[in-house]
Amino acid sequence: MKVFWAPKGGAALEGVNSLIYMRIILIGPPGAGKGTQAEKLAACKNVPRITTGDLFRRAVQEKTALGLRVQNYLEKGALVPDEVVLGLMSERMSQSDCKAGFVLDGFPRTLGQATGLEKWMEKNGLRFDAVIALEIPDDEAVVRISGRRQCGACGAAYHVNFQPPKNAGVCDKCGGSLLQRKDDEEGTIRHRLQVYAEETAPLIRFYDRAGFLKKVDGLKNPDVVFQAICSLIK
Ligand code: AMP
Repeated sequence: MKVFWAPKGGAALEGVNSLIYMRIILIGPPGAGKGTQAEKLAACKNVPRITTGDLFRRAVQEKTALGLRVQNYLEKGALVPDEVVLGLMSERMSQSDCKAGFVLDGFPRTLGQATGLEKWMEKNGLRFDAVIALEIPDDEAVVRISGRRQCGACGAAYHVNFQPPKNAGVCDKCGGSLLQRKDDEEGTIRHRLQVYAEETAPLIRFYDRAGFLKKVDGLKNPDVVFQAICSLIK
């Protein structure tokens, strides 16, 4: 696979200050904090955060054709086939809000997706600025994910240890019931971690060998992690 990469100051080749154009890939196992960091980074750089997991979950919830196609994969914690992911992402990254860049969260996740992404970038004359890998041990990922709860009514997020509601199982904001995502149950998390090790870790090694990967310790406090990321992409 050829890496289509921004040379030093490469984004400036597009004729604009490099802070304006920002295309970043965030990679990490489930529970590493990609979502939190991608959100902060996207807000800070004023570009959209594109999260494949969220796009798929919304499609499942709305029972669209895509949702019906991917539901089974999501429930089992298996990867959606590359061609489906690439089709969805090419469309999303072509939307007008992505002109100034994007933060990719949860994509690419296989070498096939990374190759497809490279081709899409090349075809569109675009370059990446950074690939950030957030690292945490598997046991920490299990603790973080298995404790997640979400309000079935308003969507507010909780964690049974780190951000518990006042009354167990009840949303502080609207009184709705707190639910656990099917793929956040421990058995499924272990499977997702195994899929990550088999399918995504080779991708990390690839970017690392090519000298483009920047590793960040995801165990630290989210603000410290964010500062570390910002210092790497300046
Ligand atoms: P996440 O919330 O990122 O862990 O994603 C939830 C689920 O969506 C995964 O377990 C997969 O079933 C699916 N998914 C998300 N992103 C991808 C991707 N890039 N490739 C394949 N499947 C994905």
